[in-house]
Amino acid sequence: MSSSVFHDYSGFSNATTFGEVYNNFSQIELLNWIEKLWGSYYYYMGNDLFATGLLFFTLHEAMYFGRCLPFMIIDRIPYFNKYKIQDAKIPSNKEQWECLKSVLTSHFLVEAFPIWFFHPLCQRIGISFEIPFPKLSSILLQLAVFFVCEDAWHYWFHRALHHGVFYKYIHKQHHRYAAPFGLTAEYAHPIEVMLLGFGTVGIPIVWCLITKNLHLFTVCVWITLRLFQAVDAHCGYEFPWSLHHFLPFWAGADHHDEHHHYFIGSYSSSFRWWDYFLNTEAGPKGKSSREQKMKTKAESKKQL
Ligand SMILES: [Zn+2]
Ligand SMILES: [Zn+2]
Repeated sequence: MSSSVFHDYSGFSNATTFGEVYNNFSQIELLNWIEKLWGSYYYYMGNDLFATGLLFFTLHEAMYFGRCLPFMIIDRIPYFNKYKIQDAKIPSNKEQWECLKSVLTSHFLVEAFPIWFFHPLCQRIGISFEIPFPKLSSILLQLAVFFVCEDAWHYWFHRALHHGVFYKYIHKQHHRYAAPFGLTAEYAHPIEVMLLGFGTVGIPIVWCLITKNLHLFTVCVWITLRLFQAVDAHCGYEFPWSLHHFLPFWAGADHHDEHHHYFIGSYSSSFRWWDYFLNTEAGPKGKSSREQKMKTKAESKKQL
């Protein structure tokens, strides 16, 4: 079975190894090295459905655990203790092991299934996987849209999950660790994984249904960035070089750790604006921010 990743294989010589396939793609001058690798992968696999399934499953595992690994290492280096948000609450090996088992079970049982049906879905709704890729500006614009929309989705559904039975039967599992660590990012009930996961997977699908303009490579970059964001938000560390110091509206661990610590407030994922404008920032920091806002409002009224 051949791949439809590229429209013209006429100049290709016979290739059996991955290196030979890559050499064939290297002859096409308009492609950059990522496109050559992407094309070689699909061509070498020879089955687009299987190639997309394997790519997404591997990407998810590699990026999630790959991003958790540096935090698991620095947990063991006393120098970094001073950056821990909730004092010296280092997760025990037992806690980490139990979390890992649960996350892996969820990956294989809940997420593996939709991943294998992703390629037919892409074909149906028109998510392209051919090379060359779209322009960088179009990829960046779509990533920005996905980040903003996912954050809104996450804010409202996460906030809803804190109500009564939803919390008791679904979301409570994610709150088992009041002092989170990287691996806890995806430690959640299967219904929550699907509900909040829709913000990550469903939003690009809806975008493509509306615009008919989306590439699978953009989806891969988006999923990688979203995984990094989720692991970072749960890492339990606040560094002088954390992103929110440079982008003040970025949430990060500083924001989400408060949510785990106080259980109420700070519901959004990537940005701070929903919690800020709807007065739902968690903990003492949130309280003083609300008081400051009220004070500023009162003073501006006095001046009028
Ligand atoms: Zn929560
Ligand atoms: Zn969390």
